[in-house]
Amino acid sequence: MEDWNSWDDNGDAPLLTSDIKREFPFDLLSNQTKNLIDFEMDGYENILGQLRATFRSGKTKDLKYRKKQLEALLRLYEENREEIINALAADLRRPRQEAIVFEIDVMTNELLGLINNLDEYAAPIKPDKGVANMFDKVTILKEPFGVVLVIGAWNYPLQLLLVPVAGAIAAGNCVVLKPSEISVHCSRFIAETFPKYLDSDAYQVISGGIEETTSLLKHQFDYIFYTGSNRVGQIVHAAANKYLTPTTLELGGKSPCYIDDTVDLNRAAKRILWGKNSNVGQTCIAPDYIICTKEIEKKFIEESRNVIKEWYGDDVQQSPDYGRIATDGNFKRLVTFMNCGTIALGGKFDASDRFIEPTILTDVSHDDPVMREEIFGPILPIVNIHDIHDAIDFINARDKPLSLYIFTSNNKDRDLIIDSTSAGAVCVNDTVVHFVCNLPFGGVGASGMGAYHGKYNFDTFTHEKGCLEKSMDYVSEKLSDARYPPYTDNKASYLSFMMKKRKFWKIPFFSHILAFAFGAAAAYYLKKYYFN
Ligand code: NAD
Repeated sequence: MEDWNSWDDNGDAPLLTSDIKREFPFDLLSNQTKNLIDFEMDGYENILGQLRATFRSGKTKDLKYRKKQLEALLRLYEENREEIINALAADLRRPRQEAIVFEIDVMTNELLGLINNLDEYAAPIKPDKGVANMFDKVTILKEPFGVVLVIGAWNYPLQLLLVPVAGAIAAGNCVVLKPSEISVHCSRFIAETFPKYLDSDAYQVISGGIEETTSLLKHQFDYIFYTGSNRVGQIVHAAANKYLTPTTLELGGKSPCYIDDTVDLNRAAKRILWGKNSNVGQTCIAPDYIICTKEIEKKFIEESRNVIKEWYGDDVQQSPDYGRIATDGNFKRLVTFMNCGTIALGGKFDASDRFIEPTILTDVSHDDPVMREEIFGPILPIVNIHDIHDAIDFINARDKPLSLYIFTSNNKDRDLIIDSTSAGAVCVNDTVVHFVCNLPFGGVGASGMGAYHGKYNFDTFTHEKGCLEKSMDYVSEKLSDARYPPYTDNKASYLSFMMKKRKFWKIPFFSHILAFAFGAAAAYYLKKYYFN
């Protein structure tokens, strides 16, 4: 699949670094924030050095401190609700309801989950012990990585940055936040507001564009969490490779949407068009294209026509509930897709307003540009197939998607598609809403690596450190001294017996009972042979 950002190469890039510096409103930043924005390598080294010192001090590992910081972040959302809504409207003309539901609520609920469950998530795990370790302490400790870098994307400029940041804080890390330079107002909001609520010794916002991210990536981090395009994902992964830094890549791709004739098509159209046209399709898990038979296509388009009219009225451009394309570059790229196949619905656009009407394309060829790259806009092509096996082959011939949508009431067909394909996640009979369930969120193959949200968010930023504490007593030594030379066949057999993985019934206090039995046997032996 071509990268959706490939239009960068032909001179239509949304913002060059020089433009970014020009567009970024540095003059509006406070002096405190300006001090943090040092585009020289040494400047970053100073910031990172300070964060490393804070991490080494152990301050961020304290659970009370972590909760206090998470609660401060919660206050930031509560006390700046209107500023958040305004920043999103300025960057993306995001309707108020979408700002609340897709950003503020997502961020708030993630924080509440982390705060409420932090003690449980951070508690050491006691794994099952084998016979060889029955007198020892075996524990899995939850250790923060250290100083982590979180790089956000512009399409959901707050939650895609601040949700993983909350996970990193909950896990006890220090964090460098890098907002996207394209969502200028949200980026400024974060740079201005974050230091007022959270501890600047442990968390620093670094603003800027490609040049600054490139410089940042030359430094060593303990973990990198990146959300954005596949193309830049590869750059981030290559930079991380230099230091073997563990990395989560939340990338994009084409998420297919299969529809069969067993579902209510009006309801299906509503759920698909909502997922496609919220944030005007600039959503990584928006249904990218539909796969269905020619008969379903016809009915789907009729239902869609009614739904769009019901939602946005006769003139979509006048609707307050419909957003705009974020950059001129993305707008130009999307307009070229109108030349693929036939426009069955919509098709209007207005460059002066970066407006593109919800559009459905039919008769697209599998090789059309609209089918080669992630669309990331309100254009929905329909690919015709003959049957479910055709659909499965079509999906499997392409990169593994971030999400796979299946609209069917036929459980056998549902299971067949789920079992025969691979995707970051599957959502049956709806779109996008799996994002807010208690599910791991992330891609597979070309759509990314690693996952987050809820407990998975905490776990992503946590190293699970195995810890074995051997008993030094006589019995423990006796149980394992067969490992010492001189080696014999009997010793080898005994060690194999002790080390063998067995399926035990889970008996409570098994090791205590075993220790008691061993002690009783030893007492009996000593009494019989030594004290008689
Ligand atoms: P992007 O990759 O262009 O930019 C994201 C970040 O990378 C920005 O902070 C930017 O400064 C930095 N960056 C850009 N070019 C860089 C370079 N050459 N070197 C170093 N850093 C660079 O992505 P985007 O345009 O913000 O987002 C759109 C893409 O992200 C789509 O493909 C979409 O599907 C994907 N996405 C994925 C998710 C997810 O959760 N999986 C969420 C949102 C977006």
